[in-house]
Amino acid sequence: MIPFVSRASAAEQAIWLKHLSDALPNESILPFSSLTSLQKKDCDIAIVANPDPQDLLSLPALKWVHSVWAGVERIVNEIASPPFAIVRLIDPNLSRTMSEAVLAWTMFLHRDMPKYAQQQAEQSWQPLPMVQAHERRIGVLGLGELGRVSAQRLKDNGFTVAGWSRTPKQLDGVACFYGEDGLLSLLAQSDILVCLLPLTAETDSLLDQMRLSCLPIGASVINFARGAVIDDDALLTLLDNGHLSHAVLDVFRAEPLNSGHPFWQHKSVTVLPHISAPTHPVSASRIVAANIDRFRITNEIPSAVDPIRGY
Ligand code: NAP
Repeated sequence: MIPFVSRASAAEQAIWLKHLSDALPNESILPFSSLTSLQKKDCDIAIVANPDPQDLLSLPALKWVHSVWAGVERIVNEIASPPFAIVRLIDPNLSRTMSEAVLAWTMFLHRDMPKYAQQQAEQSWQPLPMVQAHERRIGVLGLGELGRVSAQRLKDNGFTVAGWSRTPKQLDGVACFYGEDGLLSLLAQSDILVCLLPLTAETDSLLDQMRLSCLPIGASVINFARGAVIDDDALLTLLDNGHLSHAVLDVFRAEPLNSGHPFWQHKSVTVLPHISAPTHPVSASRIVAANIDRFRITNEIPSAVDPIRGY
């Protein structure tokens, strides 16, 4: 018996319960709210989607939890020193979906779509200088499950791609940087910056005024990671003074984005409602099921989040 622990709506939980039960026919997947006190004592695994920390802490035998989401900053922040391992979703389908979004919105910026939309609104017929894909330098922050596949897809589409991570990396055809000096070098040579970093103590407000100012004049930013990685005021200042030309934002410090937030009306900001790479319940349930089935046979917990590192 495995509880599904979530603060999602009842309708959303019902979808997950169905797909998880289909993928795990030998297990009984139950909503946390239906567990008896006796059942709570027996749970060694929980499947979670934005769980209430108190619910998890009420399961004394819990060895590990499997998140159905890739980003785990909330659970990591809410439970200091968790007495169980936290396993997050790593789904090749999600990486492909994210790389598609990265490519789509990079093309949007690369082919000057915001400028042509503005020109149409002004009934202005003005061809802009054509930049070839190989002349467009894309910097990808984060070379993990999502960043690696996105960098590769950009490279396959002819762009000049560089990436940045915490530890050194080698990626075919992608210039790899790491550490603070590496970040400044990468920023200085990124016409389009794509953020795919997890939100941690180190990445919170990483893209502040100083670092965003290292981008070349006219550069653009795509944030598909977490809103708090960027300092909103710094971004607005650099868009307003013309240092940056456009920002495509899928994630925000508060979601949904507050009505009245300056991003909504800003002519140089594209607001997306956190849609760049939604978890796909069928594919995610299969990944979760494979990890749980393996644990039942080997007793090995899949590679887990490091609560100190935060990802
Ligand atoms: P991941 O596999 O854990 O990769 C994280 C990458 O960031 C790694 O390359 C890591 O470096 C790097 N990194 C972490 N901290 C760093 C630091 N302080 N300095 C430099 N690099 C650092 O994560 P992922 O699966 O690619 O997902 C990334 C994030 O995307 C998630 O955490 C989530 O917030 C977000 N996301 C958004 C959506 C959406 O729809 N908008 C969907 C899914 C996920 P190392 O390689 O050296 O460890």
